[in-house]
Amino acid sequence: MTEYALAVDLGGTKVEAALVDAAGALLAGSRHRRPTGAASPSEHLAAAVTAAVRDALAALPNASTLLGAGIGSAGPIAGTSGDVSPLNLSAWRNYPLGALVGNQLPGLPVTLRMDGICISLAEVWMGAAQGESNVMGMIVSTGVGGGLILGGRVIAGSTGNAGHIGHVAVAGFDDLCACGARGCLEAIASGPRTVAWARTHGFIGETGEQLAAAAAAGDAVARAAVKRSATAVGRAIASASALVDLDIVAIGGGFSHVSDDYIELVGAAVAGHSDFGFVTTTRVVESGLSGDGPLVGAAALVHRADLIG
Ligand SMILES: [Zn+2]
Repeated sequence: MTEYALAVDLGGTKVEAALVDAAGALLAGSRHRRPTGAASPSEHLAAAVTAAVRDALAALPNASTLLGAGIGSAGPIAGTSGDVSPLNLSAWRNYPLGALVGNQLPGLPVTLRMDGICISLAEVWMGAAQGESNVMGMIVSTGVGGGLILGGRVIAGSTGNAGHIGHVAVAGFDDLCACGARGCLEAIASGPRTVAWARTHGFIGETGEQLAAAAAAGDAVARAAVKRSATAVGRAIASASALVDLDIVAIGGGFSHVSDDYIELVGAAVAGHSDFGFVTTTRVVESGLSGDGPLVGAAALVHRADLIG
């Protein structure tokens, strides 16, 4: 009998839910999404989550077992109790997302962690970091997120928020971040912030896709913007590795595809940041996950509970 986890991924623009088996495969027809949005009121967000979960659960085959739910949420989260306070969903502060989902699976366990931790779990389980023990999974997209696995175990920290690489300060930059600090990686290197920087230097496009096309065509400003983002990501990775001695960093997310050499540029910035061999030997690789990564990672909270610690 096939055993499924209900996987839920909550982000700033959408919530997705699907059924995922013990081999990390999404059940065809079980994946459903609803829009969220920064300006959405709490009731709207709750209705979106409830509908996505209901639709995913409706796909559960008769002769199968549902083990429980794994939820990856945009951070910050409030411990590992299931409460969340996503920076980009202002209506939810200490909101009981775990309990909301749990109401639809009476009697079954619900595990919630930061989305960056879920991505890292997915990289170790199914992606580019299989067999590795000291791993950071990263997303460079609308925001910049990450999570840490050290010594083969997830590092969550006292409030569940360890791994917020997007809010590590990068030397040489003072861009104002939505978190209130200056010089955060996310404020420098995210897709929207990189496009905004390019526009202040004469780029007339408005999207990451347009920036990618301009960079590919040799536009100097677009190219400089891509390098600026990759350099900041590399410096943040070097600092993280100096602190916790990483073997491998796997980078995914839409903006990491802005140029063919983005990952290479990040790696060069890591190598150029320090003479410490233990830092410069940290391998920077492209994510081994498909677009299913966040859901696979949420499912890992159920199927690979051995890694959570
Ligand atoms: Zn910040």
